[in-house]
Amino acid sequence: MKIVDTLLTPAMQHPGAELAQLRADFPILATKVAGKPLVYLDNAASSQMPQSVIDCLVRYQTTQHANIHRAVHHLSEIATQEYEAARHKLQHFIGAREVREVIFTSGTTESINLVMHGYGRKFINQGDEIILTTLEHHSNIVPWQMLAEEKGAHIRVVPINDAGELLLDEYQKLFNANTRFVALSHVSNALGTINPVKEMIAIAHEHGVPVLIDGAQAAPHMQVDVQTLDCDFYAFSAHKMCGPTGIGVLYGKAHLLESMHPFKGGGDMIASVSFEKTTYNELPYKFEAGTPPIMAAIGFGAAIDYLSEVGLNKIAAFEHELLVYATEAINSIPGVRIVGDNPKKVAVVSFTIDGIHPHDVGTLLNEEGVAVRTGHHCAQPIMQRFNIPATSRASFAFYNTKKEIDALAAGIRSVQKVFA
Ligand code: PLP
Repeated sequence: MKIVDTLLTPAMQHPGAELAQLRADFPILATKVAGKPLVYLDNAASSQMPQSVIDCLVRYQTTQHANIHRAVHHLSEIATQEYEAARHKLQHFIGAREVREVIFTSGTTESINLVMHGYGRKFINQGDEIILTTLEHHSNIVPWQMLAEEKGAHIRVVPINDAGELLLDEYQKLFNANTRFVALSHVSNALGTINPVKEMIAIAHEHGVPVLIDGAQAAPHMQVDVQTLDCDFYAFSAHKMCGPTGIGVLYGKAHLLESMHPFKGGGDMIASVSFEKTTYNELPYKFEAGTPPIMAAIGFGAAIDYLSEVGLNKIAAFEHELLVYATEAINSIPGVRIVGDNPKKVAVVSFTIDGIHPHDVGTLLNEEGVAVRTGHHCAQPIMQRFNIPATSRASFAFYNTKKEIDALAAGIRSVQKVFA
């Protein structure tokens, strides 16, 4: 595979040495597994937290915790300020025009479900068509299937080639007078492919069709600017971005969010309630019913501070270096095949080993301290496309090292010896 080097501008060549020092910020990376140093290569599932985020969570819980928005007392005011400050950080991080366009959710899955319920159930009807792609995570398939079943709408799917890239010509051909919505991933979690979302959004908009981008695997690895992309919705999760579980974001253009049904009913999302009529709160609160995960949202803000300080461009450049190194290392092992080997990827390497089930690969690598994910990665249509049940997936973060990739390659060789 030849990886394009256009991702590296001269100013960001070789940030590895600088980023290597950041490992010390992540206490969990000092863990030993089976007496060996942990080699954590499951970052696409969940990344690890730096000490600054852990400290923020402890500080909040120790000195600031109270419910938000509902009281005038000291702690509630502090908690509210911190929660709303986190929303502002997220707004700037993704370049949203207005802070009310940032909705806190429990994560990408809930963000997509919110759009399905709030937008889809209102605006998508019988005979309408929704375009998805072969590269979607189940979170961006199943909600749309549920909607299609309920409404009598139809799902259309953009195919991929053998390198795991979307076929844009086929995408164009899917549009017709019935097309009402496009939902696609920015980056494939199973293969790492970076999809040409800006171009795909522009094509959809030429047909007057709004687009939701599942950014779960993009937001941790590259600078995302929702206004430049011109996406209508963008969904992502904190736990893949050095933040806590249980919190994520749905970005939506204000006029679309305003036109939508609320997702959940309850406290905080209302302006007034009577048994005759309830009116809803303004954005973003209309979509945040009940007590939100306050601590997690504030921790997400701290993770955004951390990532911004490191710099997304530096992260992208260094992770690209890791990808090139890992691709070469794995391709040099006979009997190992990378699935979805293409030039535009984040640092994810999904592979199969001849004659060995990925589950055995994962189990034996774990004995070497190497954590990879094995299975269908919640992306069964991709596995079906390649006619395989599963892959082993090594997914990298900026705190990984080339030495760890050497450990992965050595681990793969010893797995092969066990099965020889
Ligand atoms: N979309 C993609 C591309 C993902 O990789 C994931 C998680 O792996 C999700 C959606 C779901 O994210 P969450 O489980 O945080 O809701």
